[in-house]
Amino acid sequence: MENCIFCKIASKEIEAEIVHEGDGWIAFKDLNPIAPVHVLIVPKEHIVSIEKTDNTALLGKLLTAAAKTAHKLKLSENGYRVVNNIGVYGGQTVPHLHFHLLGGRQMGWPPG
Ligand code: AMP
Ligand code: ZN
Repeated sequence: MENCIFCKIASKEIEAEIVHEGDGWIAFKDLNPIAPVHVLIVPKEHIVSIEKTDNTALLGKLLTAAAKTAHKLKLSENGYRVVNNIGVYGGQTVPHLHFHLLGGRQMGWPPG
């Protein structure tokens, strides 16, 4: 989609630090990391949020991609967190579906 920052990263029109990539998805470092490892897993096609799709195959693939990326970044042993923010109350700032992969430190609960 035009003027979507994550579509532009997915199509490599805008640079990002890509850490992993697969069929229909890409994983790249967050510009403003909130943990030692902070990576975003996004579908290459423009989808605003989980509210706007019923593509279970793609959604499953994205979660599997998060686990694969965590494994690649050696987060599996200590654990990590996968977060999906939806809409205003969810704290979503970029309207292109993405899963945050957070690792490298102890996470707190409940989230803010
Ligand atoms: P959310 O608030 O869940 O929508 O997350 C959006 C995330 O995208 C934030 O953590 C931002 O730091 C990150 N972000 C925004 N623009 C870029 C960019 N050009 N490259 C990498 N990460 C970005
Ligand atoms: Zn997009």
